Amino acid sequence: MKAAILRGARSIDLVEVKEPALRRGRVTVEIDRCAIGGSDLLAWTTGELPAAAWFGHAWSGRVVALGDDVPGRFVGERVVGAAPPPCGSCKHCRAGFGHNCDLVLEMIIGVDPLASGHGAFSERIGVDSRRVHRIPEGIDQDDAALAEPASVAAHAVARSEIGLGDLVVVIGAGTIGLIVAELARVAGASRVVAVDPVAQRRELACDLGSDAAFAPGAGVARWLQERGHGLGADVAFDCIGAPSALGEAVNLVRRGGTVMAVGVSGQTLAAVPADLVRREVTVRASLGYTTADVQRVLELLAEDRLRVSPLRSAELISLNQIDAAMQELVDNPSGGLSVLVKPPSGA
Ligand SMILES: [Zn+2]
Repeated sequence: MKAAILRGARSIDLVEVKEPALRRGRVTVEIDRCAIGGSDLLAWTTGELPAAAWFGHAWSGRVVALGDDVPGRFVGERVVGAAPPPCGSCKHCRAGFGHNCDLVLEMIIGVDPLASGHGAFSERIGVDSRRVHRIPEGIDQDDAALAEPASVAAHAVARSEIGLGDLVVVIGAGTIGLIVAELARVAGASRVVAVDPVAQRRELACDLGSDAAFAPGAGVARWLQERGHGLGADVAFDCIGAPSALGEAVNLVRRGGTVMAVGVSGQTLAAVPADLVRREVTVRASLGYTTADVQRVLELLAEDRLRVSPLRSAELISLNQIDAAMQELVDNPSGGLSVLVKPPSGA
C-alpha cells in the first residue's frame, strides 16, 4: 500500500510500505480522510518532526482488523484517532496526576510503543486501540477528520476556565484559533473577537460567530476597552506562539485576566515579569487534549453546536498532491485552512 512520508524540509516521498502488523492491542484502520493541519505544514516547511507517525495525525477512517486482546472494538466501526484515557501505570498516573498521563502525550505525538512507522497520509495505519474513538451518527468523515484540531481547541478552552459573560480575544484565526473562538461562546463567553492579518480569515471568524475581527494593531484594544468597561479582555488566547503574539495577549487582558498559550514556536519569549505581577495576569499553557475533550467535541459536532466544515477546502486531494497542496497553503494562507487528503482506498 502507499504512504506519503516526510523526508525533510519540503521533501515528501510517496512510497510503498508494508501493511500494518496486527499486534496485540492494536487495530488496523483504513483511512478515509487525513487533514493537512498547521503542524503538518510547519513540519513540511522546517523538516522537523517529533515522530514519523505525526505527519498526518488528524484523520477519520474505519476499523478493518483487530489484533488480539482488543475489547470494545469491532470491524467496520467508523473512528477517529485521538487520546486514550489515562493509562493508570505511568509515573504521573501513579502519583495521582492522570490528567498529565505520559502515555496520553506519547500517543498524541506518535511516539508510543504501538505507533505506526508512518502517519495517516497512507491507505491504512495500525494504532493502539485505546486511542481510537467511535464517530457518532450525524458526523461525516470529512468533519470527523477535524475532530483532532477541535480537541486541541477544546482543551485550551477548558483550561482557560472561561466564565459566564466573559469577554474573549483570540489571536490567530487559523484552524485552532477559529475553533477556540467558536467554543469560547459555547463555554459561556458573551463576546468574542479574533485577530488575524489575513482578511479572509477575519471574515470566516465573523461567519462562525465572532462579534468582530481585526488585523493586528490598535483596533482590537479599542474594541475591547469599549466592550470591557474600559478594562480589557477577561481571557486572551495566543493561538500563534510567536513572542509578539503572547506579549499582545498580555497587553489585551484586564487586571486579573488570563492569557492562554496555545500556539507553539521554538522562539524565546521575552516576558516582562513586572507586567504580569503588576496586573496579576494568569498565564496558562495548553498542550494536546484528553479523551474527555475528544468526547465533547464529537458530541458538539454531532449536535451541530460546533461547525468545522467551513474550515476545510471543499475539494479532496490524493496522496500525490500533498506536496503541491503544502506549497499552495504557504503561498496563499487565505485559501482553505485545512486540506483533506483521500487515500486511494478511502470511502
Ligand atoms: Zn499514565
